[in-house]
Amino acid sequence: MRQKIVAGNWKMNCDLEETKTLLKALKSKLDSVDPAVNLIVAPSFTNLLPAVEMLKDTSIEVAAQNMHPKPNGPYTGEVSAKMLSSIGVKTVILGHSERRKYFGETKALLNDKVNTALTQNFKVIFCVGESLAARQDKQHFQVVQSQLKGSLFYLSKKNWEHLILAYEPVWAIGTGETATAQQAQEMHAFIREEIAQNYDQQTADQVTILYGGSVKPGNAQELFSQKDVDGGLIGGAALNADDFLNIANCF
Ligand code: PEP
Repeated sequence: MRQKIVAGNWKMNCDLEETKTLLKALKSKLDSVDPAVNLIVAPSFTNLLPAVEMLKDTSIEVAAQNMHPKPNGPYTGEVSAKMLSSIGVKTVILGHSERRKYFGETKALLNDKVNTALTQNFKVIFCVGESLAARQDKQHFQVVQSQLKGSLFYLSKKNWEHLILAYEPVWAIGTGETATAQQAQEMHAFIREEIAQNYDQQTADQVTILYGGSVKPGNAQELFSQKDVDGGLIGGAALNADDFLNIANCF
């Protein structure tokens, strides 16, 4: 079902103490947020269990930032769906541009990861988005279309109930440069249209599509007021409790 979501991708930030401090601050001010807005936080692997424990009596959901597609085996340094499930994590971010860029994640690998995650009853926040060069060459729609086709459009209609998309133009991530509300809306509408063409309008209408890329309390309202923008995937601003909660109050 289409939802209002503000999700914080903490990336490789916050040790255990910092995680506890940030979560405590979020919890203490949670009453200020409209309960219709769903909050998700994605700390690093080492801090997922403490986060699950600290947030168990709240509405904030905990997500992992990555997951290996295999159930177990000789994959040094990796974490499986079963391991995440066993500590109560059932949501995962996949396809983040930093994973694609620094860890060589291909569409085919992401295809495997998405398959595993959905088979293991995870909710997936799947990121797509073009580079600056692609945007300048006016190839942004083709890039996003190919990411969707390569990793998601083989899925069943039913699978889409467990997918959240995040449009994250790479040139806007961590750069302070945000897509304009019009650029975000245009791409979100395009994504919804692609889903409608590959599935049907009902499926397209129920998918939650987040925008990510330098979202701050000062620009969230304009972005979230767009017809096809259902919330945000937040990086830097998610590391400050007030900023994160203020963003959540921008609908
Ligand atoms: C992100 O990495 O998903 C992100 C959107 O980062 P930032 O908000 O810092 O641009």
